[in-house]
Amino acid sequence: MLSKKIVDGCEFVVFDLEWNQPIPGKTYDFDCSTLTGEIIEIGACRYVYNNGDLVCQAVYSADIVPVVYTRLHYHVRKVTHKKNSDLKNGQPFAEAYKGFREFCGPDAILVGWGNSDPAMLKMNLKFFGMDPKLEMQFLDLQPIFSFFAGQKGKQRSVEAAVDFYNIEKKDIFHSATSDAQYTGAVFEEIFRHNKPSEVISAISSSSIDPDIKSEFSLVGNESQNAEGALKLIDGFLSVCPVCGKNLKAEIGKFRIRKSQYALFSCTEHGEIFSRARIKKNKNGMFYASAVLRFATQTDYYLVASKKEEFDKYGSNGAPAEQTEDKNEESNTL
Ligand SMILES: [Zn+2]
Repeated sequence: MLSKKIVDGCEFVVFDLEWNQPIPGKTYDFDCSTLTGEIIEIGACRYVYNNGDLVCQAVYSADIVPVVYTRLHYHVRKVTHKKNSDLKNGQPFAEAYKGFREFCGPDAILVGWGNSDPAMLKMNLKFFGMDPKLEMQFLDLQPIFSFFAGQKGKQRSVEAAVDFYNIEKKDIFHSATSDAQYTGAVFEEIFRHNKPSEVISAISSSSIDPDIKSEFSLVGNESQNAEGALKLIDGFLSVCPVCGKNLKAEIGKFRIRKSQYALFSCTEHGEIFSRARIKKNKNGMFYASAVLRFATQTDYYLVASKKEEFDKYGSNGAPAEQTEDKNEESNTL
């Protein structure tokens, strides 16, 4: 939940990162899982909110010279249209990040498309020995767009959102600065096409603190049957993973096929989404794999639509042809 109230004068920094990846098969003198991508570009637009409108104030753009992944991964080359020689032009990461922080100012809310950018930024900060705390709220605009575009629960690219609002395409996609500008343009359109109070309410309930762990998972012990496997994770689902207080059920646990859903709340930490999947191991025993996370707009929609399905069809769920896009389920966990 967003702690800051959105009022006139509130600032948003819409940002995007491009990063290079390790070359498969190449050996590095460190564990690549500690740096799955090295940032090579930061792009951002700063907006100020004023009476239902977002006004772009400034644009930030920095190319970064990588120091560990100095050759472009073929996929990154293909997507970003960069050449190896381009990686020699730019600033050191520390300098570009300093410039970005100054650009953000002390009070802005970070906005991105998808939730991978803040995680990648924090990973780079940690890897290069800098303070990984962002100390800013983060808003993933992708589910907000899907919600207001009537495509709830679907994941869409920035380009699809740009097409949806007929935004003029002046630059190529997949450069950090142009993607940040396109994302900003989509953000402007969301405000333009909807009631500002509704947009603000969606934003407020979907912003997260990227410095706090927001997702907790547990793999339960084995049981002879599915019901037993779910019972074994009841303890995990009964207390807040942050403070340990008892959770209150807002939408009590219910099961559709192999998944159990619920929406809980902690008096201190707000609403928490839960999903558990029943799985079978190679010995034929059942176990449940569960996740608890601070609920976002997408999670509210997911649990509400699943509850509707459950109330109508019971634990077998809707007949196959009526179930929604399978991608939705795999994308949202
Ligand atoms: Zn709590």
